[in-house]
Amino acid sequence: MDNCIFCKIVRGELPADVVYENDNLLAFRDINPLAPTHVVVITKKHFTFLDDLTEAEIQLAGEILLTIKQVAHKLGVAGAYKVVTNCGERAGQMVPHLHFHVLAGKKFAP
Ligand code: AMP
Ligand code: ZN
Repeated sequence: MDNCIFCKIVRGELPADVVYENDNLLAFRDINPLAPTHVVVITKKHFTFLDDLTEAEIQLAGEILLTIKQVAHKLGVAGAYKVVTNCGERAGQMVPHLHFHVLAGKKFAP
């Protein structure tokens, strides 16, 4: 995806404060943090949002969750974080590339 911001970060064309990377996923600090710890975990492959994942991505879907856990542990917020994915503009998604917000260090409304 030529003009996708997150694809550009994956390709190294835009800078990012990367906190974790493996073959399929990349995690970096959000440029506009909403909490003391705010990273986004993205797939390296372009999917627009969670609705794009199918049975073919069952392994990737599991890897996303376990990677989020690993990233949270690495950032020192194990047992004290929140995970959010906005699926679609009507849910507040601004960047149309699948990503999961990992937020910690602040009390959120229930
Ligand atoms: P969403 O509303 O779920 O699409 O969230 C997109 C998130 O990406 C927002 O929290 C933005 O602050 C963040 N963001 C946008 N561009 C960048 C960037 N270049 N580096 C890091 N985070 C970004
Ligand atoms: Zn993309």
